[in-house]
Amino acid sequence: MRRANVAVRSPEAHVRACLVRDCPGATSEGKPYCLEHLGLLPYVGRLARREREAREAAGRNRRRIDPRGIVARDILDELEVHGDVTPRRLAQGVALNRRTLGRFLVALEKAGLVSLRAARGGPLVGLRAARVT
Ligand SMILES: [Zn+2]
Repeated sequence: MRRANVAVRSPEAHVRACLVRDCPGATSEGKPYCLEHLGLLPYVGRLARREREAREAAGRNRRRIDPRGIVARDILDELEVHGDVTPRRLAQGVALNRRTLGRFLVALEKAGLVSLRAARGGPLVGLRAARVT
């Protein structure tokens, strides 16, 4: 706790050497890696993989969609939290465009993980069954 106080008082305490061996880079805001090596942080690596999955799904090769991948898990998480939602709301929730989301939903529906059903206000997407994670 005492260390945190010191860090708040002196901004230079936030600048450290990058943890990558022999990297001359400095870090900012207490991060463990320099900008060049930030991808080594687990959440940054995850973001990059998620980005790649979404990009591949938006391309022509639909076989690449992995119903167990990161994007798919984000979609299932969103449905778990919010229950049945419209595709529009779901797309916003998981930050995908509708077309890309649609491709994931097709894959997830085939995998038996989500269901689409008609409702008065339009289609709703929901979890098909309890998730086994
Ligand atoms: Zn570095």
